[in-house]
Amino acid sequence: MIKVFFVTAALLGANTAFAACNPGDWKDPVASAQQGSMITGRAPIGSSIDVNGKALKQGKNGDYVFGIARDATGVAKVTIKPSCGDARVVSVNVLKRDFPVERVNGVPPKTANPTGAIAQRIEAEQARVTAARQRNDDRQDYLQKFIWPVTGRISGRFGSSRSYNGQPGAAHSGMDIAVGTGTPVKAPAGGVVTFADPGLYLTGGTLVLDHGQGISSNFLHLSRIDVKVGDVVRQGDVVARVGATGRATGPHLHWGMNWLDTRIDPLLLLEKP
Ligand SMILES: [Zn+2]
Repeated sequence: MIKVFFVTAALLGANTAFAACNPGDWKDPVASAQQGSMITGRAPIGSSIDVNGKALKQGKNGDYVFGIARDATGVAKVTIKPSCGDARVVSVNVLKRDFPVERVNGVPPKTANPTGAIAQRIEAEQARVTAARQRNDDRQDYLQKFIWPVTGRISGRFGSSRSYNGQPGAAHSGMDIAVGTGTPVKAPAGGVVTFADPGLYLTGGTLVLDHGQGISSNFLHLSRIDVKVGDVVRQGDVVARVGATGRATGPHLHWGMNWLDTRIDPLLLLEKP
């Protein structure tokens, strides 16, 4: 009798300290993904999670998210240590893409190769935008199926190598959609406005929407901004109007997306089943 009592007590103790993981609390990331992808997953609440050693925050339902950079290669190794069981390691194979080369001619010469005070101004403005993207709050708007902010022809693709007036520039950080000045821009998913400035040197009217856990959208070259920092917007809300401000050769919407400092490709989100 005494022996049985002890065994029972030991089992009860174990159950209290280590509740088993519920299989329904797991949703592993995809096995492979293209450069520029946003990757989501879910793990039991209270897990510690990292991707290639970089810690990820977990949302209130256990969701986590990260981005795969344009130039990433190999695997993104996700390590999850739940409080309810053994660690789990999931590898996402990074699929290489062929990025096109785009030559952009006819940009205002003063914006093609800025120097001196102008270069300093651009750097300071860029630092403000970068700071806005560091917000890593507990929202999961990024889980929505993203919609097009405007509909039109894609005139520039994420990741293309770019030259401006014949001078090599950085890879294109987002996608361009050719639509006329004044076209309303809709929020592609819900979010919080974290940056709004009508007149940055390179990017003109510039707006950043935060979709939670480090995922943000930026809209550039806007002719008008209809929201202010701190506003909460829902998917489909009109937030701005298309323009050709900053370094632009004509009216279009530039839509960029980030996971913190990592650029990701909005088109992959639109094409996601
Ligand atoms: Zn662009």
